[in-house]
Amino acid sequence: MTGELRTLNGEIFDRAPLDALLKRRLFYTESFEIYRTASNFKGDTKGLYDYGPPGCALQANVVDLWRKHFVLEEDMLEFACTMLTPEDVFKTSGHVDGFADWMCKDSKTGEYLRADHLVENVLEARLKGDKAARGVKVEDKDESPTDAKKNKRKVKDIKIAKLDHNTVTRYEEILARIDNYDGTELATLIKRLDIRNPDGNNKVLPPIPFNLMFKTTIGPSSASPGYLRPETAQGQFVNFKKMLEYNNNSMPFASASIGTSFRNEISPRSGLLRVREFLMAEIEHYVDPEGGKKHARFDEVRDVELRLLDRHVQLAGKSDLRVMTIGEAVDTKVVDNETLGYFLARTKLFLEKIGVDLGKLRFRQHIANEKAHYAADCWDAELLTSYGWIECVGCADRNVYDLTVHARRTGEALVVRETRQEPVQIEEWQVDMDKKKLGPKFRKDAKAVELALETLSQKERALYATILDHRGSISIDVACLPEGQAELGKDLIQFVRRTRTENIREYTPNVIEPSFGIGRILYCLLEHVYWHRPGDDARGILSLPPLIAPTKVLLVPLSNHPDFNPVIRKLSQRLRAAAISNRTDASNASIGKRYSRNDELGTPLGITVDFDTLKDGTVTLRDRDSTKQVRASADDVLDAVIALVHAKEVWADVFARLPEFRGQSAEE
Ligand code: AMP
Repeated sequence: MTGELRTLNGEIFDRAPLDALLKRRLFYTESFEIYRTASNFKGDTKGLYDYGPPGCALQANVVDLWRKHFVLEEDMLEFACTMLTPEDVFKTSGHVDGFADWMCKDSKTGEYLRADHLVENVLEARLKGDKAARGVKVEDKDESPTDAKKNKRKVKDIKIAKLDHNTVTRYEEILARIDNYDGTELATLIKRLDIRNPDGNNKVLPPIPFNLMFKTTIGPSSASPGYLRPETAQGQFVNFKKMLEYNNNSMPFASASIGTSFRNEISPRSGLLRVREFLMAEIEHYVDPEGGKKHARFDEVRDVELRLLDRHVQLAGKSDLRVMTIGEAVDTKVVDNETLGYFLARTKLFLEKIGVDLGKLRFRQHIANEKAHYAADCWDAELLTSYGWIECVGCADRNVYDLTVHARRTGEALVVRETRQEPVQIEEWQVDMDKKKLGPKFRKDAKAVELALETLSQKERALYATILDHRGSISIDVACLPEGQAELGKDLIQFVRRTRTENIREYTPNVIEPSFGIGRILYCLLEHVYWHRPGDDARGILSLPPLIAPTKVLLVPLSNHPDFNPVIRKLSQRLRAAAISNRTDASNASIGKRYSRNDELGTPLGITVDFDTLKDGTVTLRDRDSTKQVRASADDVLDAVIALVHAKEVWADVFARLPEFRGQSAEE
């Protein structure tokens, strides 16, 4: 996250009123809040949130749209997998050893800090201090202007000191590449730049890795360690064989999963952006690596324009965006292949549908250290907020990694077999094993050793053939052996180059994985659609598209006259029958007030029932964003509502075809 921009529509975005609205109107709230102030409460509730009614409805609508946009559109195979996962699975996937962030300990207070965030915060504070010393206005990206007024102490904490030009450039370069540093590099930076804990100015100890998975045991004995999943992907990979069969052995195809994941973040912060439990929606698209990972529907998205921040620009310490169509990006190899490009474009179209401000969307490519070693290419969809650019969707080409490691560990062939039209001659390295000797030597582990040998890639076989030739023996990884490796001499195995006729082609598919964090998307979206009418900053408006707004229609009787009740009841019933969420506000508040408190909830449409309704059956329909109204029969208005909610029409269409109503202003 970098905070070079904190503007929305060219204005400084004040986060405090939005935060207050979201809390007051129960979009979401801190979990276990009443315990936080209870005496002797020792629990850590940071990074845990509960969603209230509008939050639940908004999330459900976004997820529903996601399902339609991806699962339905691409005929994906949806899976709901268990969140509890045995340790072995995450050992195989690499999470037990590698799913970690670097953290530093305050040498005096013992406080733990995420190392990259520490470096980022301190360097940003120094740059702010430099700007302040030069008389340039400074802002704090974690603090809204309203907070800043209240919190003078923080402003005082910014050390005002001029930096020389080279230092400013160096700091900016480090910040542009902050996600790219490993533990050793972070340790060097912390030492060389004398980075200390801003809270108390104490030195910090060198960074150590901290595994982000929540560990537990499964069953009453403690002999079965397990973890809460940090992503939904592994559940999908382990079901690959069954999915392929379900799909009539036809390729390519994708699986998808929507479910909760858990990460024990070192320092949860920024509301929904860095939490310890969150909803993910992930796709694993399986593609034949032969033929350049083409996508049959790529032409449908070829002209979609994306704003790209590629790795070369970042490595030069810059953040300039290049706007190009995905067709051009794939043709020029900026994006590695069509399938990855297809999903980047589809991701943009999804974000556009839910109402994200496209001027605040960019796709950033991972640079070397940041991307997993096996990944061919990786791009994040990032949204600009008052916290800076936030990664909301990760889109990675994971190669053959996942299916290969699970196949090796379990002995299940996670491969595709296709009958060849014409048999082909293949020259390859084959492994000859003397099973009569392997059995007695490795006893119960002999099968695992055989499996490890059989699943060696051609590249590995070529390498081992040379080593075996030179040294007379090789050692290969076999996880279940006490030493983790099997030592094999020439008497047990041989690597031989032979030609075979292949009638059936067998290959491990590559995986392209778009991974969406729903909570992050929701928060960024809420910032993008939040505004208030000029001169009225007491009440905000959430301009959520009707398609995803929590409640679609507010029903407003002019007064609490009993004659209005049956009309309102009937309208509500008809809307419910059309599966359109609606609420009635029959309170004594003025119509304008009733509308404005529902503008805060993002309710896009309002229907008012008045005395004319009782005479001629007409009602008014009000648009949240323009506050304009039309008047027509209940039938015509309901038709318009249905068209708007299903995004078949926009307000301008309805306003053009139904008569405008100016009679009694709902805004008062
Ligand atoms: P990753 O597997 O780390 O690429 O994460 C995939 C997606 O999950 C990210 O793009 C985020 O949207 C989301 N995500 C990851 N970590 C968190 C977190 N601690 N809190 C909220 N969302 C997260």
